[in-house]
Amino acid sequence: MSYTALYRKWRPSSFSDVKGQDHIVQTLKNQIVSGRIGHAYLFCGTRGTGKTSIAKIFAKAVNCEQPINGSPCGECRTCKNIAAGASLNVVEIDAASNNGVENIREIREEVQYPPTEGKYRVYIIDEVHMLSTGAFNALLKTLEEPPSYVIFILATTEVQKIPVTVLSRCQRYDFKRITVETIVKHLKGLLETEQTQVEERALTYIARAADGALRDALSLLDQCIAFHYGEPLTYDLVLDVLGAVDITVFGNMFRAVAENRTRDCILALEEMVIQGRELGQFVIDFIWYLRNLLLLKSVDDPGNLLDMSAENQNILKEDGRLADQETLLRYIRVFSDLSNQLRYASQKRVLIEVALIKLTRPQMEQNLDSILQRISVMEKMLEEGVVMAPSPEAESSKDTAASSAREMTPAERISLPKGQLEDLNLIRSEWNKIIRELGGPIRASFRDTVVEPAGESCLCVVFSDQSNYMIGSRESTISEIQSYVENHYQKSITFKVRLRNGEERLDTIYVSDEELKANILMDITIED
Ligand SMILES: [Zn+2]
Repeated sequence: MSYTALYRKWRPSSFSDVKGQDHIVQTLKNQIVSGRIGHAYLFCGTRGTGKTSIAKIFAKAVNCEQPINGSPCGECRTCKNIAAGASLNVVEIDAASNNGVENIREIREEVQYPPTEGKYRVYIIDEVHMLSTGAFNALLKTLEEPPSYVIFILATTEVQKIPVTVLSRCQRYDFKRITVETIVKHLKGLLETEQTQVEERALTYIARAADGALRDALSLLDQCIAFHYGEPLTYDLVLDVLGAVDITVFGNMFRAVAENRTRDCILALEEMVIQGRELGQFVIDFIWYLRNLLLLKSVDDPGNLLDMSAENQNILKEDGRLADQETLLRYIRVFSDLSNQLRYASQKRVLIEVALIKLTRPQMEQNLDSILQRISVMEKMLEEGVVMAPSPEAESSKDTAASSAREMTPAERISLPKGQLEDLNLIRSEWNKIIRELGGPIRASFRDTVVEPAGESCLCVVFSDQSNYMIGSRESTISEIQSYVENHYQKSITFKVRLRNGEERLDTIYVSDEELKANILMDITIED
């Protein structure tokens, strides 16, 4: 039996199929019914929220021979031609790869001639913020005096990069992230039609991982179904396929922090490094976990604010007893700051270790938060009738922290030619963003990867997980990454992939020849 990807099969073809953008759909339908159609539209919003889907439906609707309440009929010759991609009246342009002046000039020449059939010629320019300055200027001239039969629909994820002159000539529509609830409802409906059994919380997990992008939710769902074709889709299978960190891992880490067990924190982190977890993502997920703990303590009936099963809520309630609200807020602040720092850091592990040490040893910190925490510790001790004197226990735990720091052998340092080092640093600092924006299977399977140098204009992506590696080693995946890098950074880099060997360490530090020769030992600076 062949399997058609859900996200292709269920691409919306009429306004009623579009989910979560009711305000936009209604306005556009009203315009068609009243015949007050604009000449330039700007669709902004995060990826996967339906911008190009709505643009295509709108293009059909304005040309349809008998639209029904502003929606395309889907039956007439024009609708069918457009749906089959055979119409000259709908032109789709990806500005990421056609961003030059000449591309826009071509359009300007074309628009001089009215369409031979149908009423409007619609140009859909996706990722319009990628246009060069020259191309924007050329586009502006057309937008200033558009022929009556031309409609431009500009779509972008980064509206702040659009020149004001262009903005002021467009009707702007802001696409919302789609709520977890709407996504779950939609996925559930699809799976019923597909006759696939599924646990509701499995869908909730997928919906949350998709972060408001319905298209991502569909491709994550595809990935889970493809791995376990024919089986009912359970929460555990989803966690397994998407490489998620189980709630028990967060629980262990949280208890170690709350009970000031520094050494256990560091060991738990080491465990995650060995498993090849992407540490930046771990910190983000851990903040989410802390947020849930805080909600449980602050809100009477958090119910569906938590997106989690009753049994997990109970586990969380147990954990929550270990810390009061102020302490949780302080943890969230420290980890949020950390998350910002990690974005551009090459030494993620060390920064997380420092944060864990700070949290578990408030006596090392000078700020108000930690002073409050120290006072509350002392108050508790007084309540319990403990005599306040330097305890031998505190001294010995200091030693343990120091010895566990000694146990960590420093990472190897290797020098690279300047060009290769620049490529490596660029891709490493952008890696999370690249993966996120490519979305779908890449986003899920590349989460735990590390990029390492592999020669002139060549980088290697190292996977820790066999099944993720299988997805990552597909030729289509690699070429998608290569062309993204080419388009966004103007760099032609060849990507290879490999699987990590057993317990191999992946924390090698790459430096320039000069740095290695001068034997400069970089200090890690932490910005407050
Ligand atoms: Zn029609």
